[in-house]
Amino acid sequence: MKKTITLLPGDGIGPEVTTEAIRVLDKVAELFGHSFVYQSAAIGGIAIDQYENPLPDETLSLCRESDAILLGAVGGPKWDANPSHLRPEKGLLRIRKELELFSNLRPVSIYNSLIAESTIKEDIVRGIDLMIVRELTGGLYFGEPSERLDINGEEGAVDTLTYSRSEIERIIRMAFQLAEVRRKKIISVDKANVLESSKLWRQIANEIAEEFPHIELEHMLVDNAAMQLIKHPKQFDVLVTENLFGDILSDEASMISGSLGLLPSASLSSNGPGIYEPIHGSAPDIAGKGLANPLAAIASVAMMLKYAFGLEDEADSVMSAINRALDTGIRTADLVYGNQEYVSTTEMTDVVLQHLS
Ligand code: ATP
Ligand code: MG
Repeated sequence: MKKTITLLPGDGIGPEVTTEAIRVLDKVAELFGHSFVYQSAAIGGIAIDQYENPLPDETLSLCRESDAILLGAVGGPKWDANPSHLRPEKGLLRIRKELELFSNLRPVSIYNSLIAESTIKEDIVRGIDLMIVRELTGGLYFGEPSERLDINGEEGAVDTLTYSRSEIERIIRMAFQLAEVRRKKIISVDKANVLESSKLWRQIANEIAEEFPHIELEHMLVDNAAMQLIKHPKQFDVLVTENLFGDILSDEASMISGSLGLLPSASLSSNGPGIYEPIHGSAPDIAGKGLANPLAAIASVAMMLKYAFGLEDEADSVMSAINRALDTGIRTADLVYGNQEYVSTTEMTDVVLQHLS
């Protein structure tokens, strides 16, 4: 199989973990007889530095022409004081919008050998297998107005939470389709006791549930969901929610796995190429030090193989290589406490590659 992959390494640890992910893709190509062609482009802070634009037109057109996009991370303190159109995150928000990547899939599970090291009790996390489906192109991140304003002579600010019926329908429907090939249970998370957008969300979820009579739908308020994720995470199969709730809950859920540095994501549209990326950010505090955990980026490659190319065996091989690498006992810095020993970004990948077959 021949596929073209656009690489958007971005900023901070983005380029470091992307390099490791490519090593894994190359090994998969070699082992299974595929050909992956890469084209690199700039996004985020590095694109601001080079083109004064967090998402240059050329980057966008390369992405549109490719079969899948592998992204590192964007942003960092260097650009924090920039005016809003020259912020790295704007590049990421715009590419999601341009490619209509309305559905962000964030699987949460725990690797076998990390169960005993979990900060949460073993029997609570063992066997956890949940899929967070976060709406990605609506809600507070995109609502207008979003600006400073005068409130009775006092400094103020406004953000707007907007969702249309079609935006809610497509994300809920995608969640149901995912549940169909999983354990057939959806928990839809909202704040319907307070927010009008959540009332519409809940109403539409109930309507779509009628198309899927064999799938169980439950509604949960977001504050309760935040608690339930830690108290009893195994009750979740597919968790679907709007943009901001999904952002917060998925960072919370990452602690079930052990580290932000472990969790992959896929952002999908209904037709064109998707973006595969670790859920962590650019981690400027550890950039350039060889401390970044590459496993989230490597697991994102597994999601690409599965969701973009339909290569399930290859995806399974990558995930089991990660499992076996961790079984050897090696850990990156984010997975150890106190003065335990740890390996570098590259050394972790070396061991994954040794177990990839
Ligand atoms: P963003 O706003 O882009 O989501 P963030 O503020 O959530 O970024 P991250 O960049 O994700 O922050 O980093 C949060 C913390 O987690 C950092 O202190 C960083 O050291 C740690 N971290 C994130 N990713 C990794 C990784 N791959 N390996 C090790 N540590 C990581
Ligand atoms: Mg974050």
